[in-house]
Amino acid sequence: MAASDDKTTSRRPLRPATELVHGGTVRSQYGETSEAIFLTQGFVYQTAEAAEARFNGEDPGFVYSRYANPTVAMFENRMCALEGAEAAIGTASGMAAVNLAIMASVKAGDHVVAAKALFGSCRYIVETLLPRFGVDSTLVDGTDLEQWRTAVRPNTRAVFLESPTNPTLEVIDIAAVAEIAHAVGARVIVDNVFATPMFQSPLTLGADVVVYSATKHIDGQGRCLGGVVLSTREWIDDQVMPFVKHTGPAMSPFNAWVLLKGLETLTIRVERQSSSAARLADFLAGQPEISRLIYPGRPDHPQAALIARQMRGGSTMLAFELKGGKPAAFAFTNALEIIKLSNNLGDAKSLITHPATTTHRSVEETARAELGITDGLLRLSVGLEDPEDLLEDLAGALSAAAAL
Ligand SMILES: *Cc1c(COP(=O)(O)O)cnc(C)c1O
Repeated sequence: MAASDDKTTSRRPLRPATELVHGGTVRSQYGETSEAIFLTQGFVYQTAEAAEARFNGEDPGFVYSRYANPTVAMFENRMCALEGAEAAIGTASGMAAVNLAIMASVKAGDHVVAAKALFGSCRYIVETLLPRFGVDSTLVDGTDLEQWRTAVRPNTRAVFLESPTNPTLEVIDIAAVAEIAHAVGARVIVDNVFATPMFQSPLTLGADVVVYSATKHIDGQGRCLGGVVLSTREWIDDQVMPFVKHTGPAMSPFNAWVLLKGLETLTIRVERQSSSAARLADFLAGQPEISRLIYPGRPDHPQAALIARQMRGGSTMLAFELKGGKPAAFAFTNALEIIKLSNNLGDAKSLITHPATTTHRSVEETARAELGITDGLLRLSVGLEDPEDLLEDLAGALSAAAAL
């Protein structure tokens, strides 16, 4: 499929906000304004010869929606334009994308290195699932480059990391890790969910593969699951496509359409949510009930210099620790009126999570302590509400925590 629609395949390179609205659009014979939903499993061929040509690759059209679909292709091509990638594959969820990127990179006897501050299910794949299939894995403190250097082996075929990390918003030096990984020929896979495509471009920093849970900021309105893997045309065609065709993690065309509509507003949402997050972070940092405030956009973030080098903005996320531990964190959460208690993130609605008892409940206590996930820690995903209302909500919850 063409990378873009007729007139928007511009003579000049387009800026991200423009690509987000027009990138990847292909119109049917009706010339519809909004992208069409091709809710179809298969495609009909005019003749037996046409079917033969489609199947032997002479005619590059669509065959079956487990392989590719016109609406999903529009989403994939829009993501490529945004990320500066040659090729992409949309998947049913973010975890399907992570699993696909890792599984397409390894075989029995290989080794994988990952940063230990991982989304719970990513950690399960690396720590539990891969060894079941004869792939060894090593987890390192992602911020310590010496640990990456010691961990890589001649048979390390993939390294996997998230930056900023969930939930403590640590930042990993992607360019430095890529140099270490490439020295042994390992593929660098970056889960860029927390940074969003607006604030960090791992491919330009030296990563080979970028994955997203599109469920988060790309949808941004809490409606559907989705994921995407972005990389070179060669790797996607030769290694990823066969895996996709035969194992079936395909994205639904309907979800691809929802996500295309989400992408149209991604810049304005992420900008607004981040500027609100910065205001809330500044407010919380000065409060006596708070012992620790982590926000990638503040100069007091322990890795502010790396953030300035590697990222183009702060974050829609912040994390903070209440002095009174779990009782204070629970009192605080229960007193909130506008901010909802939920484990999702990147949504138009502000959402708060107590990682120690929910998303990171299954991580062992010592590992949790190592990751800085204390009983007083809360993770806040800032939404699109008026920041003044959010400030008032937080102030009320702080009084509730203080009154314990
Ligand atoms: C949510 C998330 C995932 C998994 O995505 P799903 O769409 O829920 O499958 C993977 N990585 C990170 C960093 C996430 O936040």
